[in-house]
Amino acid sequence: MSLDTVSQPTLVVESNPQQTGAYDFDRFNEAVMDTYARFPIALERGAGCRVWDTTGKEYLDFVAGIATCTLGHAHPAMVETVTRQIQTLHHVSNLFYVPVQGQLAQWLIQHSCAEKAFFCNSGAEANEAAIKLARKYAHTVQKIEHPVILTANASFHGRTLATITATGQPKYQKNFAPLVPGFDYVPYNDIQAIEAAISELDEGDRAVSAILLEPLQGEGGVRPGDVAYFQAIRRICDETGILLILDEVQAGMGRSGKLWGYEHLGIEPDIFTSAKGLGGGIPIGTMMCKQHCDVFAPGDHASTFGGNPFACAVALTVCETLAKENLLENVLARGEQLRTGLRALAAKYPALITDVRGWGLINGMELAAESEITAADVVQAAIAEGLLLVPAGPKVLRFVPPLIVTAAEVDAALQIVERAIATVNV
Ligand SMILES: *Cc1c(COP(=O)(O)O)cnc(C)c1O
Repeated sequence: MSLDTVSQPTLVVESNPQQTGAYDFDRFNEAVMDTYARFPIALERGAGCRVWDTTGKEYLDFVAGIATCTLGHAHPAMVETVTRQIQTLHHVSNLFYVPVQGQLAQWLIQHSCAEKAFFCNSGAEANEAAIKLARKYAHTVQKIEHPVILTANASFHGRTLATITATGQPKYQKNFAPLVPGFDYVPYNDIQAIEAAISELDEGDRAVSAILLEPLQGEGGVRPGDVAYFQAIRRICDETGILLILDEVQAGMGRSGKLWGYEHLGIEPDIFTSAKGLGGGIPIGTMMCKQHCDVFAPGDHASTFGGNPFACAVALTVCETLAKENLLENVLARGEQLRTGLRALAAKYPALITDVRGWGLINGMELAAESEITAADVVQAAIAEGLLLVPAGPKVLRFVPPLIVTAAEVDAALQIVERAIATVNV
């Protein structure tokens, strides 16, 4: 058969479904595994920082797919790239060269301290790649027979077996033993604890080979890293040859107001990972490193979908749009505006709101431990008023809107948060 006789598919353009009516949650639950505590709204459409449910109700989206939809919903640059790339080439294999994967790696290298990139599909996979790279580095360079990776209490690194082991929160590990050996935990922002752990673990064939930390703990309650802590860790790593791995999956890709969270800390990691915001909502992850720790050789690691032309083209568009639209400036200004508003609210409800903290557009508002009101209560009240929010632990409300959010949208969100707080604080 000659190529000429292959019929071309006709392009059918349908309008987006809108207001399909009340959603049958029970029917969904019969078919989909019960791994999430879902809020009873069904979303079907989005534009900018707004989404609509099946009943036509509009919400301001300050969840953004959990710090993922960098450019909001239906951004014209993403629509253009997705359309162009699916019509051109969407997936081949890493057995061949994928030019746009090379372009994305080059952009990321030019805009970070890294010199090499590996592509995968999610945050957990990026951290798995970092853990594997650190293990091989331990065996081949550091010559540690039983390497240990130190991670922090209240951290979050993903849901695979190795990454729930790395995650210093027992609730994610419960019932999944046996976990992966070679991890130990220290309190976050506590340099003495790291020093003590390194000397305690250095015995026989066993030693610390790497330290894996978030520059700002996201799921653990939006807790920024201390500059002095990270600088002291960097010094220890330089003196001992221990690798510093930063998990930038949530704080990276501009969300903090700088492209990478480590820029707030005045240090450079040896290895770091990115995912959530990288593809603006299209699945992609990356593990990046400096040249000296790139010990991978052909066959060591792989991913079928990782770095495919579709995901890489979209991620490259997200990167270029961040630069073109000066989004980091917007992130800093909108972040200040949001924290100022939340602090005014905290001043009004001092018994309920105990802290407001964050960088750029990753912010947390902590509720008093003594109060019966939980973050989920406030989230529920906010959703009823038309604002999507997500908790970060039982007592912290998290604010992670798209990086394109406007001043008017931040004001509107603040007004709704105030109403939600007034509703729950009876
Ligand atoms: C969300 C998250 C992960 C896991 O990412 P997935 O894409 O869900 O696998 C890892 N680390 C951090 C810091 C995260 O916030």
